[in-house]
Amino acid sequence: MHPYSLLAAAKINLYLEILGDRPDGYHELIMVMQSVALTDQIDLHPNGTQLFRIHCDHPQVPTDQSNLAYRAAQLMATELPQAFAQFGGVDITIHKQIPVGAGLAGGSANAAAVLVGLDLLWNLGLTRSELQALGAHLGSDVPFCIAGGTLLATGRGEALAPLPDVHLWVVLGKYRSLSVSTAWAYQTYRQQFQSSYVWDLSSLETRRQRVHSGTMINAIAHGDNPQIAQLLHNDLERVVLPAHPSVLQLRKVFQEAGALGTMMSGSGPTVFALATSQTQAQQIQQQVQSVLPDPDLQLWVAPTTSTGIQLLASGTRND
Ligand code: ATP
Repeated sequence: MHPYSLLAAAKINLYLEILGDRPDGYHELIMVMQSVALTDQIDLHPNGTQLFRIHCDHPQVPTDQSNLAYRAAQLMATELPQAFAQFGGVDITIHKQIPVGAGLAGGSANAAAVLVGLDLLWNLGLTRSELQALGAHLGSDVPFCIAGGTLLATGRGEALAPLPDVHLWVVLGKYRSLSVSTAWAYQTYRQQFQSSYVWDLSSLETRRQRVHSGTMINAIAHGDNPQIAQLLHNDLERVVLPAHPSVLQLRKVFQEAGALGTMMSGSGPTVFALATSQTQAQQIQQQVQSVLPDPDLQLWVAPTTSTGIQLLASGTRND
């Protein structure tokens, strides 16, 4: 059996609106999700045992059964016991580049890579939607991470509709020492804004339709990058920015550095800026670095991508 290496892309949210509570305890969301070519590499090596083992040297990433990549492998073994019995366990090595607890769905991307990789390793031939249905058990962002690209996500984020590709450059900024818990962000939002939630089904549908036929989707359909940048929206900024003034300041510095638009991604604390070219993105990066010369601040430049999980060329496989 061949080892496999895959790249798993981070995501940003170009649009994130919280509509209300769902009976299952999650929030009802409307999001436009976008893959960015900031990737983790996941290596899968069959180990001849009946165990899955995680290897990762990032101090914030657990290597026990709580790792989302481990849970993805375990799910595959439970759902496809014959394949697991035939092919056995796997050593999973995660080379982390996507910052952790950053609102960039790094853990979900790792889980997505394991689902796609084990499908290949075990010769299963599962369809993308079968893999996404499995992924939905692990987390709301996993189905998106399997597909990648530009997608409209509704429900708790797992109901996906494709959108035309967005071609932009992205500058990402995150303070190394600052992480935001996704659960905290949503719970705090609920505490503060529950009175504005939409409760009845027909109003929910009306709101979904409004976004679906609205200005952001229209701008994406027309490849109108300045308009996309103008329409960036994230409800979670309402709770995360007041709690973390450094994130608010970073957002302002990005805007003043000439970004097309800037916004916090997901539950933060990563802030992203959009640019039309690599040169413009690098200029923004340099400008932010000179205004905020803080060694704790990490910055990345990457293009948007239409790929969620990419299989690396066979050169990286030890045949
Ligand atoms: P999201 O945007 O989906 O909310 P995030 O980017 O905010 O995700 P992650 O980087 O996915 O957050 O990690 C959240 C927590 O999950 C971390 O604190 C970490 O302990 C745990 N975790 C479990 N598995 C992984 C993994 N494979 N990679 C990163 N973190 C993981």
